[in-house]
Amino acid sequence: MEKICPKCEIEYGSFFANYCSECGSELVPLPHCNWCKNEISPHVKYCDGCGRERAEVINTFPPLNIFQKIISYIKKRGMK
Ligand SMILES: [Zn+2]
Ligand SMILES: [Zn+2]
Repeated sequence: MEKICPKCEIEYGSFFANYCSECGSELVPLPHCNWCKNEISPHVKYCDGCGRERAEVINTFPPLNIFQKIISYIKKRGMK
């Protein structure tokens, strides 16, 4: 899993990197595409796994997930 500095947006591919070598900030994992689970670099405009816009794949979820949430919600309430 790649990591990234939240301040400088520098990507670190190494598992051993925990802090940014430029500013000392703690690195965070790269966000994943909600649709195809690819890692999304902050420098790309589109997901290279599914071709959707970066902002869209990080902030929105596939309709299937929403559908499953509704089903589990209904099941919890005991409706049939
Ligand atoms: Zn940094
Ligand atoms: Zn994707």
